[in-house]
Order: sequence, then structure tokens, then C-alpha cells
Amino acid sequence: MAALNATHDATRRSWVASANDGQTDFPIQNLPVAVFRRRGSGEALRGGVAIGEQILDLAAAHARGAFSGLAARAASAAAGDTLNALMALGPEAWSALRAALSDALQSGAPQEALLRDALVAQADAEFGLPAHIGDYTDFYTSVHHATNVGRLFRPDNPLLPNYKWVPIGYHGRASSVIVSGQPFHRPIGQSMPAGATAPVVGPSRRLDYELELGIFIGRGNALGERIAMANAESHVFGLCLLNDWSARDIQPWEYQPLGPFLAKNFATTISPWIVTLEALAPYRTAWSRPAGDPEPLPYLDAPTLRSEGAIDIQLEVTLQSARMRESGLAPHRLCRTSYRHAYWTLAQLVTHHTVNGCNLQSGDLLGTGTLSGPTADEMGALLELTAGGKQPVTLPDGEQRTFIEDGDRVALHGHCAAPGFVRLGFGACEATLLPART
Ligand code: CA
Repeated sequence: MAALNATHDATRRSWVASANDGQTDFPIQNLPVAVFRRRGSGEALRGGVAIGEQILDLAAAHARGAFSGLAARAASAAAGDTLNALMALGPEAWSALRAALSDALQSGAPQEALLRDALVAQADAEFGLPAHIGDYTDFYTSVHHATNVGRLFRPDNPLLPNYKWVPIGYHGRASSVIVSGQPFHRPIGQSMPAGATAPVVGPSRRLDYELELGIFIGRGNALGERIAMANAESHVFGLCLLNDWSARDIQPWEYQPLGPFLAKNFATTISPWIVTLEALAPYRTAWSRPAGDPEPLPYLDAPTLRSEGAIDIQLEVTLQSARMRESGLAPHRLCRTSYRHAYWTLAQLVTHHTVNGCNLQSGDLLGTGTLSGPTADEMGALLELTAGGKQPVTLPDGEQRTFIEDGDRVALHGHCAAPGFVRLGFGACEATLLPART
């Protein structure tokens, strides 16, 4: 678990003025990493760090000799078109780069003259996927989501007996992970309408979002080796927002007996910025199990689990229809919750994923699963929010939704706040649904 240090100091300010307004997602205490270039420029994609409304170009900063030692090695590893090489360096290098960036970007730093023209406005940038994602695994770590969804299908026995013992997951599809802002088409697939005797094929009529966090693996593990809870987090580079788009009519017809397939793999949207675990250190919080629930098996337990296993990341989902955009209406919030409600922590996911010797690799992506909280306004998918499509939600202009309509733009946001520390955020994870291809 990353320790608190000078990079978390709430009094530290930046010579990039927009980092200091107290509202930005990207104060000097955050310093998340993405892959970017100037929009439409055809430039090479390279690593960059968010600071206020700007991006510090890591390739340019490194070329100007802004860093030395391990930090220079880390900046050099971030100069390419993916961050895999940086992720593979491990926490000492990530931490050295963070410390050097914090020093160089703080008010009064002598590096200001060197770095001022290594800034690119975020408004002028386009983003690539932050990593070559070799494998993508999606988990199911919210007991509230699992219970809400289970209740739709098994009212008397919503939660399956394995849930409280084993982190549930499945192997997803890495090739269709896309970065925020990229639209995608409504998927076509096979479903079995209620009361029908044969399935139909056509555009999904029950398209949904899932509010999740993405976990990028830093250093991997060799095939056959396990990662223990004690050092699981040292294998995590950082977190992003993740929307696991889901076709709720394709899913129930196809998922038995082997699990999710085409209902899930047509698009998964992630936010471009990866917030490191070190940046999230001030927002750690206690993790606990409800009274009467089983304690985790010893391999999923650790001394620090209960004191600081959870992270309080405030999350929200908004929806803006095409009509709302045309009439200038702001996106409408559908849900607000926190990652701290997760039943299984990210360390438990990494440890469980490797208990059989499965090898994680730098740049692999783990999804947390839909992060619903305990109350009705904390439901992280329309499937839950509309009780399986039976109770529509009403948008500010009177439109109703049970599932997503063509032209709808769904956005996820996340931020952290704690007394004595600066607010920081994750930027946006958004995409607009295009009509199905004919
Ligand atoms: Ca999911």
C-alpha cells in the first residue's frame, strides 16, 4: 500500500494555474497518465500526465532532460505509444516519476521554463488506449449488484451460494476495449423473446451500461507463480473508469452454460486517464464484511485489509439523449455511489486471479464489475434501476428510458475527496450509441 508523502501535500500548488482551482480533476496531487497526441495531427501517440487543463508531454519532457535517474527511466518508458513498458517497471519507478513530476510542476520549480512548451491543452488532444491490453477479465465485486440482478431472476434466492466465498469473474474480450469518446453501433445478436418458441436475430433492444472501474496490471507474474495478498497491490499500476456495455436480451439466451459472450464483447469503454494507486493513498478506507458473512479464506486475507482495503472513489453515471443535447439540456444523473462498497477488494482480485498460477501481464485490464451501492439511487446499471425494464426512468425533458436509445450519450465520472487532502478525479468515460448497422 503506497505511503503518504510530499506528493499528497494539500498545500502544494502548480505553476499550471488551472491545476489550482480546487474543482479540477487534475490537481498536482493527482498526476494520472494517458496516451495522447494533438487532435487530427497524425503525430505519434505518446504518454502524457494531466495537470489542470493541460497535458505534460512525457516524451518531450524527457527529451528536454527534465528528469534523472529512475524517474528518467520511467519517463523514457512512457514516451512510446503505449504505457506497457512503464507499467512493467514496477512501483519504485512509478513513484520516482510521480515525485519528479510533482517537484517539476510545483509553483516556483526551476523546470517551469524547460517544460512550459511541453504542455498540450487537453481540449486540443485526442487519446489512444493507454496500453496494449493482452487480456481483459471482468469481475462481479458488488454484492448489491449481484443481489439486485439475482432478485430479477430468482426472487427467493437472489445470491448464489458461491458469491461470498469466491470472487466471480470471466475472461472478456480485449480487442473491443475502446477509449472514451469513441461512438459504437448498437449490437445485433440472437435473443429469445418471451413466450416465443424460436430465437430471433436483430438489433439488441435492451442495451445497458455498467458502472465499473478498470484495474491496469503493472508488473505481471510468471506462469505458475501466485501473487500473495501482501504484495498484490504492487502489481497494480492504477485505475480508470470502465463501462462494460451489455445487451440484456442477448445475455440471458446465450450465457448458459459457459457465461457471457456476444452480449458483452462488442464494446467496452474506458477513460483515457489512469490514476495511480499512490495518488489514491489518501482515500483508502476500512473494508468490512457484514455481520454473519463468512470471513475471506486465508489466501484472500491480509493484515491491512480491514483497516485500509477499500478506496472511497465517488462514482456517478449520467445520460444525455440526442433530444436533450439539441435543446441544450445538461446530462441527467442516474446514479451516484462509491467504490468503497465493493465486496471484494482489488488486492483480492489480483490474488484470486493468480491462485491457480494464471499469469497476469503488464497492461492486462481487470474490470471490477458493476459497482452498485446499498441504496436505490446507487444502482450502477439500467437493468437494476428499471427493475429489468419494468419501471422506466424519466429524463428532464419527459423522455423515458428502460434501456439505452440510439443517440444517448452515457458518461461515467469519478472523484475522491477526504479531509485534509485535495479533491482529485478521473476525467470522463463517455460514449454515444449509434444505430445498429443495417
Ligand atoms: Ca460487467
